Amino acid sequence: MARLVMKFGGTSVADLERIYNVARHVKREHEAGHEVAVVVSAMAGKTNELVNWVNQMPQVTGTNAPIFDAREYDSIVASGEQVTSGLLAIALQSMGVDARSWLGWQIPVKTDNAHGAARIEDIDGSDLIKRMSGGQVAVVAGFQGVAPDNRIATLGRGGSDTSAVALAAGVKADRCDIYTDVDGVYTTDPRMTPSARRLERITFEEMLEMASLGAKVLQVRSVELAMVHGVRTFVRSSFDDPDSIDSSNGANPPGTLICNEDEILEQQTVTGIAYAKDEAQISLRRVSDKPGIAAAVFGPLATAHVNVDMIVQNVSEDGSVTDMTFTVPAGDLDRALKTLESSKESIGYEVVQSDPEMVKVSVIGIGMRSHAGVASSAFQALADKGINIRAITTSEIKISILIDQDYTELAVRTLHSVYGLDKD
Ligand code: ASP
Ligand code: MG
Repeated sequence: MARLVMKFGGTSVADLERIYNVARHVKREHEAGHEVAVVVSAMAGKTNELVNWVNQMPQVTGTNAPIFDAREYDSIVASGEQVTSGLLAIALQSMGVDARSWLGWQIPVKTDNAHGAARIEDIDGSDLIKRMSGGQVAVVAGFQGVAPDNRIATLGRGGSDTSAVALAAGVKADRCDIYTDVDGVYTTDPRMTPSARRLERITFEEMLEMASLGAKVLQVRSVELAMVHGVRTFVRSSFDDPDSIDSSNGANPPGTLICNEDEILEQQTVTGIAYAKDEAQISLRRVSDKPGIAAAVFGPLATAHVNVDMIVQNVSEDGSVTDMTFTVPAGDLDRALKTLESSKESIGYEVVQSDPEMVKVSVIGIGMRSHAGVASSAFQALADKGINIRAITTSEIKISILIDQDYTELAVRTLHSVYGLDKD
């Protein structure tokens, strides 16, 4: 028998009927003899509502500048998860399953002091383990912990995935099941590419790239934690009929297991294609080619909190001037341009050009480590479709290509078939 952490997101607990359905999933695993802890999000839309209340307060009080106290923000927005954990415990009890709800501070889930975006530092799982091995289901409010100042801290939006993975590490669970509104991780976004396939397995490293580069299934931080602690994480649908699932043989229903490389027998060269819209391109033309220029460009941008991503710089022919191109989030473009304008003297460029409508398409797969020619087939395929590449970056297991947003769909679909990812 196994020790499981089961996590249910906002859409899975959106109303009382769905909470009851979640309870049936939990009961099934519990009856199969597993030790179970459940992590829940707030009901869909609840956290947004709470955040909006905080943001609207200055209008009511007539203060112009928002009086933003992150400790009070946390105590307000953490309340959504408190409600669902209690409701789920009641639903379980009504089915004859021994269950008890837990808030972050009660476990405790210890975080740092960064209220509003706290990081989990430690989870003492001993109390929960005792209860779970005695047959009690622990229903844990996700998204929250307790900071060193002894006040509630929240983990940043989408943080209940991280709560679940951290708890799985804290109670030494055999698996962390993330129940969500999709039945797993796909080779690419199935809404854009109907031929996308669900992956049976994906490595931690690949999933981290997929999540960071645009796939929205899991919070990036949760994947990092899963990788560091080796938490086998199974992404599956909460909308399957709870009674149609056989829990005795591990993760048998459809889903995607995120795991170590050695658990994956047949490794594909490319595992998935991710994309991130809302990238803006900035090019500095005729920048002088001398030491200190990159520092003069990116120093002020960093000070202005502009997040620079891809950077391409050419080597000049005669050592005098060159071009420099980089990308920033489209939302940061104005701030970036203003910053560059005010550093024009110290950088010494002739003109700035920018384009706010770019997309970064990424090809991901750990098989690239040992296969040559992966990048060149992407470039050829895009060329055949007449898609112009603006910038390229690579790492050991990914290639990212910057193109015009208008070509997003065509590029994603083309790369998806070039690497043989289309379903039969
Ligand atoms: N309820 C929180 C949010 O909406 C945490 C989560 O759902 O993961 O961000
Ligand atoms: Mg979520």
